[in-house]
Amino acid sequence: MKKIKVFDVREDEQVALQQWIERHADEVEVILTEDSLEGVHLEQLEDIDGVTLSQMTPINPEYFKALAQNGIYHIAQRSAGFDMYDLPAANEAGIKISNVPSYSPQSIAEFAVTRTLALVRHTNRIDRNVAVQDFTWDLSVQGRTIESLKIGVLGTGRIGSRAAKIFNGFGAQVYAYDLEPNPELEGILTYVDSLEDLVKDIDVLTLHIPGSPENKHVVNEAVLSQAKPGLLVINTARGVVLDTEALIRKLDDGTVAGAAIDTYENEGPFFKYDWTNKPLEDSVLSHLLEHENVLISPHVAFYTDEAVQNLVDIPLDDVLSYIHNQTADHIVNP
Ligand code: NAD
Repeated sequence: MKKIKVFDVREDEQVALQQWIERHADEVEVILTEDSLEGVHLEQLEDIDGVTLSQMTPINPEYFKALAQNGIYHIAQRSAGFDMYDLPAANEAGIKISNVPSYSPQSIAEFAVTRTLALVRHTNRIDRNVAVQDFTWDLSVQGRTIESLKIGVLGTGRIGSRAAKIFNGFGAQVYAYDLEPNPELEGILTYVDSLEDLVKDIDVLTLHIPGSPENKHVVNEAVLSQAKPGLLVINTARGVVLDTEALIRKLDDGTVAGAAIDTYENEGPFFKYDWTNKPLEDSVLSHLLEHENVLISPHVAFYTDEAVQNLVDIPLDDVLSYIHNQTADHIVNP
């Protein structure tokens, strides 16, 4: 029977992994380890036919040669990002890398809408008031309907198009800007010609463009200065697309009335880690946390049962496909 080794196993992947293992019990044996591929594991690959990793940091290119020497020519990475792999070095060693380009766009779209609702209906403030037994009503908790709002979607790919459809379902007027408009979204949204045009007359700006070098600080002070006062900014894309210091200035001058930040440009040392009772040593993040009208979440927009299942199933299916057919669906260096 063929053998697959799953490295970097996290607790939250266990249920999805066991389900995949049960479904494939007749054809493949699966070995799980919390360890990363390094050291002793490189010497224990003789009887292994395929591997999947959840590599977070750059991987030593020498490992590619060790895999190839053991007849393993494919690594299935359990994430969308694959920048931790030196692709020319992988090519030189004859190793194909696959990723999971899309694991649950609906999860991220729904989270963007959830945070919009929280800002519009002031649920954070209501919860805080009730926690101290303050049950009063006042203007600070009086909300608006989504139906009454104009929503601006920046980027209408896999995630932005779904966010647009949900907002459209609420009855909102949805506007969008994308470098490549999608004609299939006619009837759901109206495209405008630039980001500056988009921000002029909307109530909510939700970001869904990639964090590529060209998109660094696409949403900057100049753009936010064009906005109708009272704008809400939702970032579930990548921290780098939003100039955080410009956002803070615009929150402070009242142009931006609130923001929901799931990704932050310097999130690396913080998001996913417990910083309870430790000084943050990041004045921008600390400053954001002081703003009552800013909701911060630690890059969890994707984090649902469905997404974790796909992040396990798709790479394992790809490993099996590569073992049997020497090809897989999501190879990034074909
Ligand atoms: P996608 O590639 O399907 O769509 C991106 C769209 O943005 C494309 O239509 C493209 O034409 C458009 N675009 C790119 N640059 C643009 C620009 N400067 N101006 C206007 N349009 C532009 O991407 P996706 O899968 O929908 O992902 C969107 C974002 O969500 C990415 O930044 C991704 O990293 C992020 N994401 C976040 C999480 C999370 O948990 N918060 C999880 C997964 C993905």
